[in-house]
Amino acid sequence: MGLLTIGRDTDVETAYSRRPGIPPRVIIGLVIAAISIFSYFASSSYNPITEQKQHISISKEQEIALGLQAAPSMERQYGGESRDPRKQSLVKEVGAEVVSKSDASKTDYRYDFHLLADPRTINAFALPGGQVFITEGLFKHLKTRGQLASVLSHEIGHVAARHSAQHLAKQRLTDGLTGATVIATYDPDNPNSRASAQIAMMVGQLVNLKFNRSDELEADKLGVRFAVDAGYDPRSMVKVMEILRDQARSRQPEFFSTHPDPENRIEKINAAIKEEYPQGVPQGLQQ
Ligand SMILES: [Zn+2]
Repeated sequence: MGLLTIGRDTDVETAYSRRPGIPPRVIIGLVIAAISIFSYFASSSYNPITEQKQHISISKEQEIALGLQAAPSMERQYGGESRDPRKQSLVKEVGAEVVSKSDASKTDYRYDFHLLADPRTINAFALPGGQVFITEGLFKHLKTRGQLASVLSHEIGHVAARHSAQHLAKQRLTDGLTGATVIATYDPDNPNSRASAQIAMMVGQLVNLKFNRSDELEADKLGVRFAVDAGYDPRSMVKVMEILRDQARSRQPEFFSTHPDPENRIEKINAAIKEEYPQGVPQGLQQ
């Protein structure tokens, strides 16, 4: 066994090292790099929600499947699902309401909303395909239904804008073809079919996903839009930012490790609200 491997490798090395020019391994490497760059730019699709072209290499079904696969590790990391059925169903109800009354319902993702038991961590996050999470640590600081709606709307914004899928496409570009074939051959109906180790690695990446600043701002803008569509006062989002800022005085909420500084966001959210309501926010929206 060892003989065969050594023998073959050595033969190849000597055969090519005698020739002048570019070694074949380099050529192969270049071809792989070219293919991944090409497929990154060729895999552009139009997102009707953000009205922008984006580079995405996986299908919506694969996004949903990856999100569902990553969900249990996400839950484990934050103490599992909340043991309070009343709060849990409130989260599910408000989330479903925002989806059904907004453009997010046109995305054919399977949205699901989870309250996680972790009482200390203050955070909320979304996996691709519609799995959305909020910790009890953040939930307990929210004062109104509208504030909960605005947090969930922001996360729905990440899903609808396909930020994770975009992130994965970029990752794939960086890694060359590592993962590319895995994604291409990944069958969502049969998650254990192939390359489960690599899928597990990607799932791990998803769980620790940190969106960049422009993704966050886009999710804020979409969040304002979705909350307004669902009849909620978008200024509740500003309230949430103020709550988080006050929390930051005593200790640094984890929220800030995955989201930009609230002070900057308050400004941008107010700008997004102005864009949505140039004449001012109407009376009577739910707080
Ligand atoms: Zn976010």
